[in-house]
Amino acid sequence: MDGEVFGLQNKDNMEKLTQEKIQKGLDVLSAKHDGKLITHLNSCVHCGLCANSCVYYNAIPKAKFIPATKVDLVASIYRRYQTFGGKVFPKLVGAKDLNDEMADEMVDLLFGACTMCGRCVSHCSIGVDISYVIKKGREMLSNMGMVPDTLQSTINSALESGNNMSISKTDFVETLEWLEEDLQFEVDDDNAKIYLDQKGKEILYTLNPREPKFFPLSISAMAKVFYAANESWTISTKMYDVTNYAYYSGNYEEAAIITQRLYDEVENLEAKKCVLAECGHGSRAFRWEGPNYIKKEYPFDVLTSVELLAKYLKEGRVVVDPEKIQEKVTLHDPCNLARSGGIWKEQRYILNTCVKDFVEMTPHGLDNICCGGGGGQLAMSEYNERRLAIGKLKAEQIRATGAKIVATPCHNCVDQLQQLNVTFKLGIKIMTLGEIVADSLILEKKSEEKPNINKLEIKAL
Ligand code: SF4
Ligand code: SF4
Repeated sequence: MDGEVFGLQNKDNMEKLTQEKIQKGLDVLSAKHDGKLITHLNSCVHCGLCANSCVYYNAIPKAKFIPATKVDLVASIYRRYQTFGGKVFPKLVGAKDLNDEMADEMVDLLFGACTMCGRCVSHCSIGVDISYVIKKGREMLSNMGMVPDTLQSTINSALESGNNMSISKTDFVETLEWLEEDLQFEVDDDNAKIYLDQKGKEILYTLNPREPKFFPLSISAMAKVFYAANESWTISTKMYDVTNYAYYSGNYEEAAIITQRLYDEVENLEAKKCVLAECGHGSRAFRWEGPNYIKKEYPFDVLTSVELLAKYLKEGRVVVDPEKIQEKVTLHDPCNLARSGGIWKEQRYILNTCVKDFVEMTPHGLDNICCGGGGGQLAMSEYNERRLAIGKLKAEQIRATGAKIVATPCHNCVDQLQQLNVTFKLGIKIMTLGEIVADSLILEKKSEEKPNINKLEIKAL
């Protein structure tokens, strides 16, 4: 694969821009209250230091893939319509018209060549918030009706059916019923349950629809952990989807609708906490962006399942034997959890507790390299070849560790890593952290008091 794939495949599907659409796009740049945007649009000093931080430029070394080039697309339009110099002598100041050609280039680079991983931001010499500018560019395209059809259809599925894969309630319930039978067999207890639509539980647990559709065993794994922890929990059959692809499209009205539905279901089922399944962007969209989308604070607690698993282990609510997983394990940090959300110690605590041989990738944690599946890339099939090409860096990192298992707390990352496994012949197994904990569990009889024999102390976090 040469990695050279050119987008614009959606061009034929898009209506030509009208003046009205152009104005809707420009409105994003004329928002006077957004001082942050104006500052970051005007700050780039073209030093080029961000280039090598980006998986796109690394895999496909063309100038258009440098993060600063993506910023400049938006900045050049800003200069054209919002500055005196850009209005009077545009060529002299690098100002450009927002026209069909420019809009197509924006779609190709801002949607098709950015995973919104944020690594370039931490590598920028002066701290330009590149991913914020790219998000604003996506918002402009969304206002102009130019979100790629593939990404928009994923959002439409969520809006129309309640989950982004349009899984029917019948199929969902049937899947969970056989998973419950499986759980009862696995733990040898007919009272083990996967609770559905129960009111007043401690936890409303969400899922990524990829789980019931493609990876049901990750649901079983968490059910087994909840059983071991003697947790009070339930899943909603109405609104269980943790994802929010409108976060990627830049349509914040749609993002708010999806957020509000989950909010309403936590309230409806009177749960004390909403626990977000292993999903990087879903966690970011609901936990950190959600209150801004719906313009109110949550009256319930929200935490990721990574934090919950670490808490169970720290408190001795579940007991594990690290000898059960003998293979070398490495960790892929989802960008939205680690770099953007600051959740990176918890997954290390879990792995250091649950497996015998844990090894880090280089680099990792806050400076991790994106797997290439973020930013909505997995939904935009027209960029598949490019997406797999940029996964080369991650594949090389994994191979260098010699690990046989790659753990990652994100189903989007799981999907991308599965595809990299095949493309780059890595010979690895990809697991969620819930699966790692479930596989290392020591199940005890419910009546017995469980001592905390987990190896690490709370202070290790
Ligand atoms: S956010 Fe990530 S993918 Fe996007 S330009 Fe920056 S480094 Fe590249
Ligand atoms: S590192 Fe920052 S200042 Fe330098 S080119 Fe990239 S965005 Fe511009």
